[in-house]
Amino acid sequence: MRTCRTISDIRRALEPCRDGAVGLVPTMGALHAGHLSLLAAARAECSTVVMSLFVNPTQFGDPGDLNGYPRDEERDLAAAADAGVDLVFAPAVEEMYPPRFQTWVDVTELGAMLEGVYRPGHFRGVATVCLKLFTIVRPDVVYFGQKDAQQVAVLRRLIADLALELELRDLPTVRDEDGLALSSRNARLSTSERERALALPRALATRDPAQARALLDGLEVDYVEIAPFDPPVLAAAVRVGSTRLIDNVPIEREAS
Ligand code: AMP
Repeated sequence: MRTCRTISDIRRALEPCRDGAVGLVPTMGALHAGHLSLLAAARAECSTVVMSLFVNPTQFGDPGDLNGYPRDEERDLAAAADAGVDLVFAPAVEEMYPPRFQTWVDVTELGAMLEGVYRPGHFRGVATVCLKLFTIVRPDVVYFGQKDAQQVAVLRRLIADLALELELRDLPTVRDEDGLALSSRNARLSTSERERALALPRALATRDPAQARALLDGLEVDYVEIAPFDPPVLAAAVRVGSTRLIDNVPIEREAS
């Protein structure tokens, strides 16, 4: 496995790999079994697997959230190597956002609802960094988790609207045994906060917004509603202490 820090380096490393499919798994590190499921899917399908490792500052509104984001590159590189990754792209912030950077991609409607209401500018940051990663790596297939269902919807729209020649695969949410969706942010939960956080998967399991809201009583709920994605999902965001958690479950469409 090779780690590239610059755009020119990863492009050069990819030159001999263009005969087979190139798969890209974008991550912000702090790898867990959710990330590993994406890497396994890429490994099974592509002759070259690229993982990006970049904590993208432009998708964070709150500087405290950005500064407190868990980072352990050594551990992540070991996990990526174990997962069979061929190339890691781990650029510095200045490599992705050089001085005078001023070009942004905004998926206007899908990026403004739900998470977009509570995290203004979040999806502009996500869409911009992903488009830049797609342009740098030129993958045939990109892998994302349904855990971030709105991110998947935004990126599918971006790929269609800009006629990008790549396929997006979304993979099911990986959960801990107690039902909590794996997230790099779970590490911040105390034991009692984690206990309270379990209301989130329990609420979503009802697949009913009113019942879910009742089960979330006592937590700080940003939203719990049916999101009009494909497939539709019951999505929720809650705050437990200083940690904000999001989760969703797919909803079967009514037979018509
Ligand atoms: P992140 O490092 O949080 O930006 O996540 C990188 C990718 O892993 C995104 O496509 C996420 O949707 C995905 N991901 C995060 N948590 C999970 C999970 N519990 N199950 C499946 N995929 C996940």
